[in-house]
Amino acid sequence: MQHRIIVLGAGYGGTYVAGCLARRLHPADFEITVVNAEPDFVERLRLHQLAAGQDLPRRDLAAIFAGTGVRLRLARVTAVDADRRTVTVDDGSGADRLEYDTLVYTLGSTIAEHGVPGVAEHAFHIAGRPAALRLRARLDELDGAGSVLVVGGNLTAIEGATELAESRPGLRIALATEGELGGWLAPKARRHLLGAFDRLGIAVHEHTPIAQVTAAGAVAADGTAFDADATVWAAGFAAHPIAAASGLAVGGDGRITVDKSMRSVSHPEVYAAGDSVHAVAENGLPLPMSCASAGFTGKQAMAAIIRELTGRNAAGSPMVYYGNHISLGRKDAILQVVDGDARSKSWAVVGGRTAARVKNGILKGAAWSVAHPTFGMPARRHRRSAAADRSAEAATA
Ligand SMILES: Cc1cc2nc3c(=O)[nH]c(=O)nc-3n(C[C@H](O)[C@H](O)[C@H](O)COP(=O)(O)OP(=O)(O)OC[C@H]3O[C@@H](n4cnc5c(N)ncnc54)[C@H](O)[C@@H]3O)c2cc1C
Repeated sequence: MQHRIIVLGAGYGGTYVAGCLARRLHPADFEITVVNAEPDFVERLRLHQLAAGQDLPRRDLAAIFAGTGVRLRLARVTAVDADRRTVTVDDGSGADRLEYDTLVYTLGSTIAEHGVPGVAEHAFHIAGRPAALRLRARLDELDGAGSVLVVGGNLTAIEGATELAESRPGLRIALATEGELGGWLAPKARRHLLGAFDRLGIAVHEHTPIAQVTAAGAVAADGTAFDADATVWAAGFAAHPIAAASGLAVGGDGRITVDKSMRSVSHPEVYAAGDSVHAVAENGLPLPMSCASAGFTGKQAMAAIIRELTGRNAAGSPMVYYGNHISLGRKDAILQVVDGDARSKSWAVVGGRTAARVKNGILKGAAWSVAHPTFGMPARRHRRSAAADRSAEAATA
């Protein structure tokens, strides 16, 4: 019988892991199924561009997996039962239950609402493509005028506010954040950031936590009311609740708890990568949710699965955090490198057009590498090991 591997989610983490496994594991012994809600690989890193009105190239998952043997199941994952080793999916024509021997959980994340009332009902966001398209439709309705409030002071809020301001200069854009805008950046980078906000005419309200979102805008904790035709919630990400409801061990933030090989500490046949996993970097700090982290954790999970199932060695990945590349519209950006303790290095900052070109290159490279996960590696497909067979028999006995 083939060993059934199911990969949930075909974003930066899942597409990479599935593609790697399919090119490394022998199809006679392994069946690999990817479940994803959408038919194409969504460049999530560019969703603020999509919301602002730019069109992104479509990257068909069927084409990415063509010839690899990966089965693509287009469906929404509605539940995982980690004890029964099943996944419930819905493809619009009804629910179906899939059984797995090994599960790779890479469903990414969505917005963190932080319990603020009105976010779910009234706010827009850019954490997924359908949401980004809803915001775009709303901005189109405003027909080049109107007001937008962006809530948050971190990467997505910065990229979202600047992209909207540059692409739709008729909008009045304000940003409200509970702390400082880009407060973690080195002074030089922060000066550049504030200069860009000034140039783009974005009003910044620091130390202004939003306590409620309404149909007419938002209200801050001190009672200040912000009128807005669209409120964009960009105040951080949270894991989808599916993980916490699955029976898998998760942390307080709902992310899956794993060992160093990205293997669930409660269910050893489950691995996780990307935004869904609580992974600890070499410096002992949690890895931030990011595209780079999805790559590192995905590679680590892929290597562990190959070792476990075939007995072959596969190179994992160091768990590191190098810094941020932050777009400020299409013509400006900041590259901020951090030190080993994740503190922004004051000298390691690049801004302006050069940084924008580098950032664009990084985005293109990330999209290319998920579609070519084993580029440069020898193409060898390993058979299942006798030890893996024995341990599977013991587990099902
Ligand atoms: C606007 C924006 C800008 C960003 N910019 C940067 C940046 O500049 N640099 C950076 O490092 N990071 C950035 N990020 C964060 C980065 O996108 C994530 O950290 C990264 O995508 C995580 O990869 P992942 O594989 O865990 O999840 P994803 O890439 O989100 O993939 C998850 C996949 O699962 C699918 N899925 C989710 N739920 C279900 C379900 N129930 N059923 C079926 N399929 C489902 C999704 O459709 C998606 O294909 C940005 C994020 C956003 C939203």
